[in-house]
Amino acid sequence: MKLQLKENTKFIVITGGVISGIGKGVASASIGALFKDKMKIVPIKCDGYLNTDPGTMNPIEHGEVFVLDDGAEVDMDFGHYERFLDTKATSNCSITMGKVYKTILENERRGVYLGKTVQLIPHVTDEIKKRIYNVANKSKADLILLEIGGTVGDMENELFIESARQIRQHLGASRTMFVHLTYVPKPVGSNEQKSKPTQQSVKMLNQAGIYPDMIIARSEKMVTKAVGEKISLYCNIDKDAVISGIDVDPIYELPLIFEKQGVSNIINKKLNIDFHPNLTRLSHLVNILKKNKSRPNKSVTVALCGKYINLHDSYVSISETLYHVSAEEDIQVKQVLIDSSEINKSTVKDKLKGVDGVIIPGGFGITGIEGKIEVIKYIRENQIPFLGICLGMQLSVVEFARNVCGIEGANTLEIENESFKVKHPVITMLPEQRGLKNLGGTMRLGGQDVEILPDTQARKMYNSDIIRERFRHRYEVNPDYIKDIEEKGLVFSGRAPGREIMQIIEFPQHKFFMGCQFHPELTSKLEKPSTLFLHFLKAILS
Ligand code: GLN
Repeated sequence: MKLQLKENTKFIVITGGVISGIGKGVASASIGALFKDKMKIVPIKCDGYLNTDPGTMNPIEHGEVFVLDDGAEVDMDFGHYERFLDTKATSNCSITMGKVYKTILENERRGVYLGKTVQLIPHVTDEIKKRIYNVANKSKADLILLEIGGTVGDMENELFIESARQIRQHLGASRTMFVHLTYVPKPVGSNEQKSKPTQQSVKMLNQAGIYPDMIIARSEKMVTKAVGEKISLYCNIDKDAVISGIDVDPIYELPLIFEKQGVSNIINKKLNIDFHPNLTRLSHLVNILKKNKSRPNKSVTVALCGKYINLHDSYVSISETLYHVSAEEDIQVKQVLIDSSEINKSTVKDKLKGVDGVIIPGGFGITGIEGKIEVIKYIRENQIPFLGICLGMQLSVVEFARNVCGIEGANTLEIENESFKVKHPVITMLPEQRGLKNLGGTMRLGGQDVEILPDTQARKMYNSDIIRERFRHRYEVNPDYIKDIEEKGLVFSGRAPGREIMQIIEFPQHKFFMGCQFHPELTSKLEKPSTLFLHFLKAILS
C-alpha cells in the first residue's frame, strides 16, 4: 500500500515507560503548549484496547469520557489537549485498536486484500499509518503530537510503536522526534532517585527500533545531575535532553517547567524549526493559582457530589474548570468529593457542612440518585449556590417537581426497570433514543446550539442569544411537564433551536440555582474559563 503524506507535517511521538498513569497526556499537551501560538498542532492518541471508543466504559475504569465537538467520545487526554492547546480535536484523532481491527476485518470480507494473508504487519500497521496520515492531510497540521497509550512492553501497543518506527523511517529524522516519558522513583528508605527502570524501558524501546530524542523523567523532585547523566549515558541521549517532569500543582505549570529546561530549543533543533514560546499569560495565571494555594483563608469550598468518587480522573474536566475560574476570580477553590450514595435525609446537613457551593455532575444509572436529590433539596431550601450538570440538571428538575410542584412519584425514566415503574417521568428519553439497540456512540453527542431566552440570568451571563456547548445524554426534561414546572417558578432559559429540548434551567428566587443539559466543563480553558462556572463562583463570592 502506498501511503501519502501531502503536507509537510512533522511528528512528535510520545511513548510511556515503567508504569502507566504518570501523566503522558499532560506532558504531551505541555510540549504542544510551547508551540501552539506559532504552529497548527493536532493531537492523536493511540489506544490499544479493543473497544471502539471509551464511551461504554465506566469512568472508574478509565477516567472521564471526553466528548469532542463532532460528537466523538474519546480518552480524557483529549481534555488536556484541548485545554492546553486551545484547539478542537476531531474523532479521527482518536485511534483505538478497536477501530483499526474493525476496519481490517470489514476490508477482508469486502475483498480488499484479495489473495493475500491478512497480517499484523503490514496490514494492521498500514491501517494505523493510514489513519495517522489522514489526520495530517485533513487537518493540514504543522505538528502532530502522536501519543501512544500504555507503557512500552505492553502487548496492546506494540503495533502502534511499530507504526511509529515505520513513520520515522518513511519521513526521516528531521520530521520525527521521539519523546519517552518514564518514571524515576525514589524508593522509601533508599533516599536516592533510581534510573534503572528508565534504562530498562529505553532498552525495550531500542529493541523495537526506536531511539528516543528526549526523555522526560517523571519524578517527585527535579532529577539530580548525577541521575540525569546516568540516564544520558545508558540511554544514549544528549545530557540536555533529559528533562525532569516533576509533580506539579496546578498542572498548567508544566509547560513553564519544560521551557525552563530548554525543551523548545531541543525540539527546534531536532525538527529543524525556529519557534520560541511566549508564556507570559500562562505564567501570570499559574502564579495566581500558586499564590492562592498559600493563602488558606482566602478560599471557598466547592463540593462535587457524585458516585464516581473513587477515581479523581472521573471528574477531571470539572476539577480543571474550577481551577480556571479560581484563577480568573483570584481565589482558591478547595474541592471536596462527596459520595452521593452515602447521603440521605439525616446525613445531608452534616455532609454539606462548610461547603460554599455544590456541583452535581453528569452520571448514569440508579446509584446515588436519591442522595443527589436530597442534596438538591437542601441546597434549594438553604440558598447554597448550585450548578447541576446534565444528570445534575435532570435531578434538580425531579426535585423541583416533587417538592415544589407536589408531583409525587416524579422521577427520571432512567431508573425504571421491570420491577419499578416511574409514575411521573419528568425526565424522559429523547424521542430519537427510543428503541435504539446499540449503546456505543448513540447518545445525543457533541457540540449543539443553545438558544437563550431574553430577560434571563443565562442571557445576562452569556450576553448572547445563542451559544454552542457540548452534550452527552439520552434523557431530557419531559415536555409534558414543562408548563406545570414553569408555573412554580423554575425557568427553562436555554433551549435547543427548533426543538423542545430544555438545555438550561434557572430558579430566579434562589441566589444561584442553575442547571445545564450540556457539559460546560468540556470547553473551559485556563485562559477562557466557562461562563457558567464563573458565575457560579461569583455567586459563591457575593
Ligand atoms: N444519564 C443521563 C442521560 O443520559 C445524563 C447523562 C450525563 O450526565 N452525561 O441523559
